[in-house]
Amino acid sequence: MPVDITQPYDPNNIFARILRGEIPARRVWEDDHAVAFEDIAPQAPTHVLVIPRGAYVSWDDFSDRASDKEIAGFVRAVGTVARMLGLDANGYRLLANIGSHGGQEVPHLHVHLFGGRPLGTMLA
Ligand code: 5GP
Repeated sequence: MPVDITQPYDPNNIFARILRGEIPARRVWEDDHAVAFEDIAPQAPTHVLVIPRGAYVSWDDFSDRASDKEIAGFVRAVGTVARMLGLDANGYRLLANIGSHGGQEVPHLHVHLFGGRPLGTMLA
């Protein structure tokens, strides 16, 4: 079901449960600010989700409420994960789906990191 970004954060959403270790995920990287794990239904040879540890639904929620330290930590995490996965040589795609029009399905802010093959032009 598409995410209604006007609703408060649901502490039992699937990514909150992954963060708490209640359900398994293939974690590839983590630090104090962010966790990166493989998408369960990969759309590219590399398809990793990077999420902030904090309870944020959307990009606007995050940019409004998160501290500068959290925002910097999350942005750095995405770049760190891309380099760690060796995607910095040939490039990759970042995608954040926000709310119903953006096609967001999980109500915890996340960035998709796709790579490992030429990805073509931007999605429709
Ligand atoms: P969204 O449309 O919200 O941007 O994408 C959510 C993504 O989360 C999808 O690509 C979906 O495959 C992934 N996903 C959903 N449930 C799980 C899960 O339980 N574990 C993992 N690793 N990925 C999930």
